[in-house]
Amino acid sequence: MLELIRKKIEQNKSISEDEAYFLYKEAATEDLKECAQLAKNKYHTKEAATYLVMSILNYTNICVAGCKYCSFYAYPHQKEGYLLTYEEVTKKLDLWIEKFNPDLVSFNGGFHPGLKLEDYASFFEKIHNNYPNLTFYEMTVAEFIFSCKRSKLSLHAGARLLKNSGTEWVTGGGAEILVDSFRKRQSPGKFSVEEYYDGQQAIIEEKIGSTATMVIGFDESLEERFEHLRVLRNFQSKMDNKLASFLCWTYKPYNNELGGTEISNEEYLRWLATCRIYLNNFKHLRTSVLTRNEGAFEGLAFGANDFDLPIEDEVTQKAGSTISHEFDELLEFCKKSGFTPVRRKVFKNPSAI
Ligand code: SF4
Repeated sequence: MLELIRKKIEQNKSISEDEAYFLYKEAATEDLKECAQLAKNKYHTKEAATYLVMSILNYTNICVAGCKYCSFYAYPHQKEGYLLTYEEVTKKLDLWIEKFNPDLVSFNGGFHPGLKLEDYASFFEKIHNNYPNLTFYEMTVAEFIFSCKRSKLSLHAGARLLKNSGTEWVTGGGAEILVDSFRKRQSPGKFSVEEYYDGQQAIIEEKIGSTATMVIGFDESLEERFEHLRVLRNFQSKMDNKLASFLCWTYKPYNNELGGTEISNEEYLRWLATCRIYLNNFKHLRTSVLTRNEGAFEGLAFGANDFDLPIEDEVTQKAGSTISHEFDELLEFCKKSGFTPVRRKVFKNPSAI
């Protein structure tokens, strides 16, 4: 089977789910790694290792979704809940700019029942005017769908509203495991797979950039993981490969209802390699320093070509992530893994091309 898979990769043909199962479950690690490198080479050099300095600005933790794996949220009546003012947001941004010179800042909050999409749009417009040199990821797909509903706007009308206020990017956050059985079990207050992809489609069709994400290591079955990949690969084809990148990170099990234990780096690397090979319609595959720390750099030899150096992310930090600001030390780990890191510019928005 391995030879057949190698041939398919060389010819840029999609592998089947059975072949992906075989790779993930049975292939020797060296063979899996070699196949992932072959797949990476279809788009990049073997040595490719680009990165951005990035921060996540958690503007609110108030959320009514109640996901069992989340360590971050507070319900509206709880005293731990917060919503940052515009001044508090800009104070954070100014501090990060001064200390870290980030390339990208991503706004990420929760399903705040008091915020409408119009509030987001005018807030982002102000941010764009004051920070014209910084790129922002504004909302996740899941937050976007929620606030469209709050505003009684169709998804397309909502995406147009954001676009007209200057939004360039929304991210594919809120995907976790995009399978309804998993969502019913762990995040019934979040949207169904169909609704999620309707949101992605509206965003792309209104020429806003978007990305694909996945989180592994909850209690999902292997079948659920593969279903996530199958539906995503089909969606990416339907959208003419407009999703700019795929990022897989891992669940942190602390301070939440679901609990559990973290998966090993070996499991992460094998899954990352499988994603690179199976998702042959994604050019950029990103490895997660935020959740794997130095272990993430090994992902570059398992098919990834890109990563972030994170500054802050309350969501994963509350669940157990640790963030190092010793960027030079982190980049040394990258070099020790045999790669020369190159700081890149933010990708061009493929939906606008
Ligand atoms: S994961 Fe997101 S949507 Fe779910 S409870 Fe946490 S903040 Fe809310």
